[in-house]
This record gives sequence, C-alpha cells and structure tokens, in this order.
Amino acid sequence: MAKDAFDLVIGLGVSGRSVIRYLADQGMPVRALDTRDAPAGLDELREQHPKLKIHTGGFKGSWMKRAQRLIVSPGVAVSTPAIAEQIAEGKEVIGDIELFARAASRPLVGITGSNAKSTVVTLLGEVARACDAKPGVGGNLGVPALDLLREEAELYVLELSSFQLETTYSLNAQVASILNLSQDHLDRYGKFSDYLAAKQRIYDGCQVAVWNRDDLATRPQTQVPREITFGSHPEAHYQLDTDKQMLCHQGETLLHVDELALTGHHNAMNVLAVLAMADALGFDRATTLATVKQFKGLPHRCQLVAEDARIRWINDSKATNVGATLAALTGIGEAIEGRVILIAGGQGKGQDFSPLGEPARQYLRAALVLGQDADKVADGLSGVPCERVADMAAAVKRAAQLAQPGDAVLLSPACASFDMYDSYVARGDDFSARAREVTHG
Ligand code: ADP
Repeated sequence: MAKDAFDLVIGLGVSGRSVIRYLADQGMPVRALDTRDAPAGLDELREQHPKLKIHTGGFKGSWMKRAQRLIVSPGVAVSTPAIAEQIAEGKEVIGDIELFARAASRPLVGITGSNAKSTVVTLLGEVARACDAKPGVGGNLGVPALDLLREEAELYVLELSSFQLETTYSLNAQVASILNLSQDHLDRYGKFSDYLAAKQRIYDGCQVAVWNRDDLATRPQTQVPREITFGSHPEAHYQLDTDKQMLCHQGETLLHVDELALTGHHNAMNVLAVLAMADALGFDRATTLATVKQFKGLPHRCQLVAEDARIRWINDSKATNVGATLAALTGIGEAIEGRVILIAGGQGKGQDFSPLGEPARQYLRAALVLGQDADKVADGLSGVPCERVADMAAAVKRAAQLAQPGDAVLLSPACASFDMYDSYVARGDDFSARAREVTHG
C-alpha cells in the first residue's frame, strides 16, 4: 500500500460506523466523510476514534481523489456525481457487505426482497439457533454485518438491501433468496429494472437459490447450481395449498396454517421461504417446524396493539411500500368479520398507488390519508370513501368514530415516514399509543 494511502468511508450511519470500527481493528488507515453537516452520533464517533480524520457537510474533493478505496454506505447512491466520477477513474468502490464477504470464513445466507426481509431473517435466525447452528444474524437489520465478525458464529444470516447489494461483488452465499419484488425506492433508481438488477446480484456465486414461484422476477437470471422454489403455484417445491390451507413439501404435508401464530397469506409465504432455506441448510425438520409455529412476528408488522368493543387496532407502520400494504390489506381483510379502516400516506417515493384500488374497494370501510403524498394515495384508492386528516391524532380520532364492531383499524401507510417522523418506529409508536388511549387499553 502506498504511503499515506487510506480508505474513505462515505456515510456515518450505522453501517458506516461499523466499517470504521472494522478497518480500525485491522489497523488500516481510514478517513470518513458525511454530506450532512452534523450526522447523528458524530460526537460519540470522535470520542471512540480520536485520531480519525472526519469531514462533514459535503464530499471533500481532495480526499475523494486520494483515497485508495471508497467504502460507500447504503444511504448514499453510487450514482452521485462525486462518486460516479471516481468509479469512472477506475477507483474501487465497495460497501460494508463486500468487506464482510471477503472476511467471513463461515457460510452465509443472504436474504433480500421488497418486503418480508426482516421477518424471514429473524425467523430463520431463530430456527438456526434452535437447531444449534450458532448463527450470527444481522446486516440491514439489527447488528451491522461487520460487527457480526466480532462474535463466534458458524453461519451468518444476513438481511441485504438493494443498496447494499449494489456495492457487493463477492457474496458467494451458501443460500441466497429474493423473497418478492414490488415497486420501491423509485426515487433513487428511476427505473424498476435497475432496482431488479441490484436485487439479482444476491445470486452471484451462490450454491442454492431460493425463489418465489409466484413472482418470476425473483428467479435467478443467471445459472446457479441448485434452485428451490416456494409459493402457492402448483409447481413450487414448498407450496401453500390454498384450498386446504396446508404448507407442503413436494406433496408431503408439513403443517396447517392454523398451527402458525403468524397470520395472513404473506406470512404463510414467509414461513415457506424459511422452511425451504432450513432444509437447504440441512436443519432438523421437527425442530424447524416447532420453531416456526410459535413465532409471533416482529413489532410494527401487522401487530395487534389494542382491541376494544370488537375493534382491532393493527400497527403495520413498517409497510413503507405498496406491496407491503397490499399484503396487509388482503391478509387482514380476509381474516376479519367486518371491514378495514386504513390509515395511509407519508412520502410516496414515486410509487404508483393504483394497485391498492381493487383490494381497497373489496375490504375497506374508509381510508384516512395523511402526510406529503396523501393526495396521491387517495387517487389510488378511488371508489372508497377517503378523508384527508392533518396528523395521526386526527386519524385515530376519526377512525374511532368510523369503526364498527368486527372492524380493524389498520395503520399500513404504503409510504416512508420521514415527512412526519424520524422513522417508521416512531410513527408506529405514535399510532399504538393513541390507539391504546382511545380504547382505554
Ligand atoms: P423488510 O425488512 O423487507 O422491510 P419486514 O419483515 O420488516 O420486511 O416487513 C415489512 C412490511 O412488509 C410489513 O408491513 C409486513 O407486514 C409486510 N410483509 C411481510 N411479509 C410480506 C410478504 N411476504 N409480502 C408482502 N409484504 C409483506
């Protein structure tokens, strides 16, 4: 390495800070920058790494030029001119997952998709623990991948976003899966095909590809050694028999959906994906089945947060795209006696909301829309009584007036939260607290 050479970490979020820790542990010279003036956690970072040179408030041209590699955080697009320029010059531009893949000495499972990543990663992690496979679980969810290298593990289960995959070249997963694909992040990709291409990178060099037979865009576009499919399609290896409501493996019944603590068609798909991956990894079938049966799901994903007068209040704040809201609306609409009052809206990220129209007409009593793209959401829900509300307080108050016994009030925004909240968690917490207030729960 040339004297004075250094790696430049771009973006000081959770993953950027894990890269700094990792490179510092390796004794590699590193500098860091963030385009924000005062990214959260900056003081703490300075305390932990007093000698680290940090630049904030933009791309520092001289550092960008002199750095031997750029390690780019998922929050920063590699198409940003300052980075694209360096790529054109031939500089190596990678992300935290690429560093992880180069360093990890144990097999890894890589999981991506527009929705269900966290649910499936968490559940597969629980199954792996129950089967004594000693997994390290993280990535885009929870513990950043590079931090997992600090603990003993015999297997890694990683949630990977399309942004992370864009800067990954040597994943070579033991098992790789795209769970499903629907529109998302079009504000950053411009074209849906670019988003799909980023997701497809998960299969590069994998041993086994697990893909969704109901969603052909998830199929590997390059040759892989082994493919396993799941879905309700009759040809799926791991199949939901929708008539019998059974989960099956090539004709053999594994369990009835009623045996699951999770509900909804989308969650049956998630369990099938986990069963397929568990078998691909050689886990004990009985332990796997016992673990998936008792899994109750994660907070902010179709979570029952209050119930009163036979009205259920359901927090699905993590539904930040149309695909997730479609799944929630259909799953809950089918499961209840009454109708759904949907609270939706926020930052729409350039999505088309019209796919919500048909299930909305089928299952909704009314929709309450809020936030920056409230009008666009309302346009997608044509034919359904739709009211614009100022904020969550007004939404919950109005929902309580509209709901009838047997109904469900569902927060499933189909949008990002950043116009009104710091995160989907804050949005879900606000809804849940207000729902408990109106139900005196
Ligand atoms: P991700 O990590 O991909 O965002 P999550 O498990 O956190 O996935 O779930 C995100 C949203 O997607 C939640 O609203 C959840 O209810 C919904 N969801 C979960 N599984 C599916 C699925 N198989 N298809 C569509 N939506 C789903």
